[in-house]
Amino acid sequence: MALVFRNSFTRTKEEFKPIEAGKVGLYTCGPTVYNYATIGNFRTYMFEDLLRRYLKYKGYKVTQVMNLTDIDDKTIRDSQAAGIPLKEYTAKFIDTFYADLDALRIERAEHYPAATDHIPEMVELVKKLLGRGLAYEVDGDYYFKISEFEDYGKLAHLDIDGLKAGARISSDEYEKESVSDFALWKAWDEADGDVYWETELGKGRPGWHIECSAMSMKYLGEHFDMHTGGVDNMFPHHENEIAQSEGATGKKFVNYWMHSEHLIVEGRKMSKSLGNQYTLEDLLKKGYAPDVLRHLLLTTHYRQQLNFTFRGLDGARSALERYNDFLSNLADYPGGTSSGEADAVVEKMLTGFESNLDDDLNISGALGCVFDLIRDINRLRAENKLSAEERDRALAAMDRIEMVLAFRKKAGVIDADIEKMITQRTDARKSKDFALADKIRDDLLAMGIVLEDTPQGVKWKKKV
Ligand code: AMP
Ligand code: ZN
Repeated sequence: MALVFRNSFTRTKEEFKPIEAGKVGLYTCGPTVYNYATIGNFRTYMFEDLLRRYLKYKGYKVTQVMNLTDIDDKTIRDSQAAGIPLKEYTAKFIDTFYADLDALRIERAEHYPAATDHIPEMVELVKKLLGRGLAYEVDGDYYFKISEFEDYGKLAHLDIDGLKAGARISSDEYEKESVSDFALWKAWDEADGDVYWETELGKGRPGWHIECSAMSMKYLGEHFDMHTGGVDNMFPHHENEIAQSEGATGKKFVNYWMHSEHLIVEGRKMSKSLGNQYTLEDLLKKGYAPDVLRHLLLTTHYRQQLNFTFRGLDGARSALERYNDFLSNLADYPGGTSSGEADAVVEKMLTGFESNLDDDLNISGALGCVFDLIRDINRLRAENKLSAEERDRALAAMDRIEMVLAFRKKAGVIDADIEKMITQRTDARKSKDFALADKIRDDLLAMGIVLEDTPQGVKWKKKV
């Protein structure tokens, strides 16, 4: 079966053909580290985890790069407001970001370049654009001249005729209505405080878009396979990346663009004022283990909007339990007399799993095949019609799909999560929320963790 992805650039499904056989270069826009990542951000990173894991499942060697935007309008604004040096301010959000990735079993990328470590590369890129007549300077700011780049607007399908000539925009983020020459480099001003670099372009700092062009090409080359992000990244960020990179090199930048639809919460856009910008920590506090969120985020197709609800999260918990109960019951099953049906069930699941994911990562279809297998093998086991060898082949098939799903409970339990949940249970008891405390204890039990209240505090051990 051919592996097919919907390319946002052409708006069509296309067969995936890597530039170099067996290898994939993948650039995934990463977090702006001025705050803790939200479950919305993780929706996009989870889609990218599925993409990465499935490419590996298909035998590709993946080189994934995820940038850390540790300098832009927002990181400067908030670090200045807090009176904390930029690097120190962003460091705690970066640390939490990595811890959250591990808790959610999002596989680590090969590279996490930070923008502040790549200023010389960005300066070089701006110089190249100046040399090619695609950039110009105004009072120490440098802008990309979109009228000189013929393909501008092709990704976001913009109609750029009738734009006001010479209009410029200096902020990193703006809407399609404001399409204009955008900032590559911004001269220092007072609001930047001590955040600046003295470079050939003068004293200042980079614009957001140039960061991703410079870092993607440094780690993946001038022309690479795939570039992804949430839909909000398509314009202006990715449009501007294409202009900067292709403008500077004269080569095609990226072959396949993929964008995930947003996560909304209980039918509404996440926002500070609604208080619904949940982080992983917020959900842990409510008694949900990280793998429940993993299940929820992974199982809605990436091109469908994901409406996050707590009911949905409870549903994810039940599905995960069913999956894990199946695995442990099967592993404990000593084996009976084969009816000759099991191998076909296994084969059908593996074929269906792969053909669904081959079709632009159709995860719901793939999981449907897994739950068919669970139903059929459970029946054979209940009727004692499964031999020990068939059981092992079914378990091996589940091991194989675990490469992509990573839903198996025990393997994902890490001590830091357990400690966090125990602290939350202790807090719940202190505030006399015994229902929540019991729920957390039950969740831990389901994760194979037994709690013991001792005079020295709560101790935990793995259930044997
Ligand atoms: P940011 O930290 O805002 O630069 O965003 C990091 C990544 O998260 C980008 O790929 C965004 O497109 C993505 N993202 C932001 N908000 C959401 C959301 N509500 N749902 C899904 N992805 C999002
Ligand atoms: Zn980016």
